[in-house]
Amino acid sequence: MAAKSFDMIVIGAGPGGYVAAIRGAQLGLSVAIVEREHLGGICLNWGCIPTKAMLRSSEVFHLMERAKDFGLKAEKISYDLDAVVKRSRGVAGQLSGGIGHLMKKNKITTIMGEASIPAKGKVSVKTDKGTEELTAKNIVLATGARARELPGLEADGDLVWTYKHALTPKRMPKKLLVIGSGAIGIEFASFYNTLGCDTTVVEVMDRILPVEDAEISAFAKKQFVKQGMKIMEKTMVKQLDRGKGKVTAHIEANGKVEKVEFDTVISAVGIVGNVEGLGLEDLGVKIDRTHVTVDEYCRTGVDGLFAIGDIAGAPWLAHKASHEGVMVAELIAGKNDVHPVRPESIAGCTYCHPQVASVGFTEAKAKEAGYKIKVGRFPFIGNGKAIALGEPEGIVKTIFDEKTGELLGAHMIGAEVTELIQGYVVGRTLETTEEDLMNTVFPHPTLSEMMHESVLDAYGRAIHF
Ligand SMILES: Cc1cc2nc3c(=O)[nH]c(=O)nc-3n(C[C@H](O)[C@H](O)[C@H](O)COP(=O)(O)OP(=O)(O)OC[C@H]3O[C@@H](n4cnc5c(N)ncnc54)[C@H](O)[C@@H]3O)c2cc1C
Repeated sequence: MAAKSFDMIVIGAGPGGYVAAIRGAQLGLSVAIVEREHLGGICLNWGCIPTKAMLRSSEVFHLMERAKDFGLKAEKISYDLDAVVKRSRGVAGQLSGGIGHLMKKNKITTIMGEASIPAKGKVSVKTDKGTEELTAKNIVLATGARARELPGLEADGDLVWTYKHALTPKRMPKKLLVIGSGAIGIEFASFYNTLGCDTTVVEVMDRILPVEDAEISAFAKKQFVKQGMKIMEKTMVKQLDRGKGKVTAHIEANGKVEKVEFDTVISAVGIVGNVEGLGLEDLGVKIDRTHVTVDEYCRTGVDGLFAIGDIAGAPWLAHKASHEGVMVAELIAGKNDVHPVRPESIAGCTYCHPQVASVGFTEAKAKEAGYKIKVGRFPFIGNGKAIALGEPEGIVKTIFDEKTGELLGAHMIGAEVTELIQGYVVGRTLETTEEDLMNTVFPHPTLSEMMHESVLDAYGRAIHF
């Protein structure tokens, strides 16, 4: 049988791949997408969406526990873990199903199977029914990533979990160790701690949420400790001894090793790219520590082969993957006004309690880059809406280039900041200066007023603090 031919074949149907496929179809390309497991990728099935569904349950639980603060009565508050997980899986399933409809609507050929690239322009797919051969002038690799496993700390699904196990727990941990305090580790720590689990977070770097501004990390730590979490920084888990229903962790800090028992460990020590089994080495694709090396347009250096999303490196975020998907589809369709993705204008969000969100330079990174800066801060306690919501803890920090007034970075912690941050992202994308932001009218009463006040504070003009 002759190989089916397309303008573009996308391998992997996560937020990178499926968005690239839709944009390609919109631009008139004939598109096929190959997926080996689930439409929607990690994001919809095991990442962004099911975690947020779980965190919503713990957030509501937390609010119910605080009912009295709002003049309400709620007694004997408890939870049904199976029902929490069922809801999360239902939300993930609903969205994954939606991607199937989008593929059909856009007349994209969807093939469920494992793809490899035997030669330039060729894709071979192993399906339930045999092997299908496809050809295309352009191939987009969007195969994503999976949990990194450290030797000795490997997940077993029983005592030691990856994010997949942590999203489908069969039991509620009583004493939990979370290894790694990036977004994934902290979100799970927040979920389980809020539901009453004795939670310890171990971070090898000198502070939790190490990519965030140091002030935000410190603020987050204070809040988490107040909530009963134990935070161990500059600390390393060296070994896990697995026993019956318990794990003894060898935890090293300041050259001393302490042995601590837990009943569950979540390993959240990063991710590795899905680069294996695709034939990339034979094609001459450069791979650097499990990620495909690409230029600013996601070109791999092999003619007609692009790589987007998690497989193409940091930041490992769904919206970065999707944006790259659009960019690559537009390049393939021959659009001539395509701009590269600017990683420094991509927001990062952590949906713990309180939430954390940021974009651009941290204060330290701005100084390192040689900028003379102006810094503004505004606390949630100075904002009417925050107090009305019963969420008076948080801070909005902004960093400007003293010389030009360019908004270099924004860093927030507190209620709903993952929604607010986009205001600053738009600002950065439009190359807004402090003056534009100061002259913008913010609605009252909203949390967004703090974004205004933080900018005003950088120039000594904050009104409410
Ligand atoms: C617990 C968790 C929470 C997260 N929360 C957030 C969040 O809140 N916000 C955020 O922006 N990001 C979040 N992320 C990260 C986000 O999920 C990823 O950045 C995003 O999914 C990357 O998209 P992608 O398209 O590159 O890859 P993926 O979503 O990983 O999709 C890749 C797809 O390719 C398929 N595939 C792989 N190899 C082959 C092959 N050979 N043939 C066919 N198919 C193949 C896989 O089955 C998969 O479906 C989270 C991740 C995790 C693990």
